[in-house]
Amino acid sequence: MYSHDYPQKWLRLAKLWFHLKALWRWIRVQKPVSKLVGYQYQAANDLIEIDITYQCNLKCYNCNRSSAQAPDIKHIGLSDITQFVEDSLSQRRHWRKIRVLGGEPTLHPQLNEILEELYRLKQAQPDISIQLVTNGYGRRVNKVISELPEWLYIENSSKTDSVQPDFGPFNLAPIDSWYHKFSDFSNGCDIARTCGMGLTPQGYFPCAVAGGIDRVLNKNSGRQCLPASDDEMRDLMKNACGLCGRFRDGHYVPPKLRPKILEQRTSDTWKKIYQEWEPDRSRYD
Ligand code: SF4
Ligand code: SF4
Repeated sequence: MYSHDYPQKWLRLAKLWFHLKALWRWIRVQKPVSKLVGYQYQAANDLIEIDITYQCNLKCYNCNRSSAQAPDIKHIGLSDITQFVEDSLSQRRHWRKIRVLGGEPTLHPQLNEILEELYRLKQAQPDISIQLVTNGYGRRVNKVISELPEWLYIENSSKTDSVQPDFGPFNLAPIDSWYHKFSDFSNGCDIARTCGMGLTPQGYFPCAVAGGIDRVLNKNSGRQCLPASDDEMRDLMKNACGLCGRFRDGHYVPPKLRPKILEQRTSDTWKKIYQEWEPDRSRYD
């Protein structure tokens, strides 16, 4: 009986703690509070996520790159990666971690060339951790994984299904909720701090999720060259975070304390965005 009671007690305490954190988060992002004490989060400038493609062989509900909701074969150009490497070297930027993801990154037709470019950074700064994040789904993906170089760290989520119960409700836009009527979306969330800025086919953003939002808005509003360390990209946060379900919690909440999501959840603004969305065909001309 007791062994049963204690975990329940701790679970209740943990829930209470995260409820209090959520309340604090809400207070913290209200416009007057942000104005008074500053923004809550800022993108780490020594971490970067590179979304090299939006193509994916899975269609997960609530995908935070919209690879399922607005599927497109849009890849980053090799020249963008080369430019990133050149800029990093010339500006002596020290990256702690570079994560290559998407979409499903192993589907990029020039993955090997991209990795060769990034390896130049690893040679210049051997302590950089360069990682590839894959869904590990299907024969084609696994064949590419088996041929990846040894210096690359592989994070394989081994997905098997489009239902991902532990995902957050990315498509529940805070701007569709009265609860965030007076929130300042330029506050971002802890993803920007813990995952760092994003490089995407649309340019640089305070996080890669924001780049994925820009894609379906067809805005191409990302910075077109590596932002200076003091560029907090608040304008881009202001545009993206009001649409991003991740803004709601704002910080990491363990899956055990979150409701499981077994279906696609989409608020009104996102329904409209996906209805109006068309792939940007100009790049194929
Ligand atoms: S595997 Fe990843 S990129 Fe692909 S649909 Fe699922 S969440 Fe999105
Ligand atoms: S709320 Fe979304 S778009 Fe904004 S910083 Fe967080 S993950 Fe990025």
